[in-house]
Amino acid sequence: MLRGLKRLNRYEKRLLRIAKLAGKLAKLKQIGFSRRTSEGFRFPIYSLELGTDQGLTKHPVGITAAVHGLETIGIQILLDFLEYVVHPESTGYLPELKKGKLGLVVIPIVNPGGVAAKTRSNPGGVDLMRNSGIDAVKPLPFFGGQKFSSKLPYFRGHGLEPESRILFRTMYEKFFEVKNAIMPVLDLHSGFGTVDNVWWPYAYTQEPCEDTFLYRKLASHLRENCGHLHFSYGPQSESYTTHGDLWDKFYDHYRDVHSDHSGWDAKFLPLTLEVGTWSDIKEEPMKIFSKKGIFRPAEHNKRDTLTRYRGFLRDFVRIGLSQPKDWI
Ligand SMILES: [Zn+2]
Repeated sequence: MLRGLKRLNRYEKRLLRIAKLAGKLAKLKQIGFSRRTSEGFRFPIYSLELGTDQGLTKHPVGITAAVHGLETIGIQILLDFLEYVVHPESTGYLPELKKGKLGLVVIPIVNPGGVAAKTRSNPGGVDLMRNSGIDAVKPLPFFGGQKFSSKLPYFRGHGLEPESRILFRTMYEKFFEVKNAIMPVLDLHSGFGTVDNVWWPYAYTQEPCEDTFLYRKLASHLRENCGHLHFSYGPQSESYTTHGDLWDKFYDHYRDVHSDHSGWDAKFLPLTLEVGTWSDIKEEPMKIFSKKGIFRPAEHNKRDTLTRYRGFLRDFVRIGLSQPKDWI
């Protein structure tokens, strides 16, 4: 049943090592539990905060992974990145964390039950990225989310699942009241297509979100100033529309909370990095017959795959050093 348990333990141990490496700059906390499995087991969910109190309260940046339990490549990319930026002797060391100019709020495994059971969904059979309750305008049939059965993929669930609530609460507590800040939050996924996509809201409609102009500016900064040319940037609905995207909900909720505050000068900017792993099918054609193979890169280029994202993630989190006025 829990074929992924060893792997989950390995990631958690590595997270602990990263927390130790960061020393005083790290706060590792258990922030809740997963949905209970049919055997009655609940998995702890952890957050790791990196930075000083000032960095975390004034310039927080978020990174999350493994909302889908099969997409463990995102966890590995994230853990590799964290080591890269906290190790004092690393070429990627981020001094801004120590100086209080930036804080990282990380939930490396949002869906530990899915990782342990090797399922996309949580232990209740719910696809967390279909779980927000938002109805899409023209969703893809079935893939866009379904309410028929938890035994079928893409089940939307009834009400927010524990994992979704924990993610929402963390966003609310760490980002929603911060003033005069640019707060990018990146959620790591894998599996869709052959290129790496960086998506911003919305997933539920092709209507542009209010911050489209700013998102486009961030994309051209990452592309032109930082040289991350092989990513494809755009609203998620350009690729497909779905019901229940959690980031749609959080993004709209943030806007609702501040709709009465004229001149509110902070920006909460969720984005999704969808690591395109289908290109591996050319190298390992049998993968297409394996249930989870298409969500993971080929073994021999795994190390390259993981380290390839360090620079991108580093430039991404450094966007949190800027202020809204820098992007006008
Ligand atoms: Zn995913």
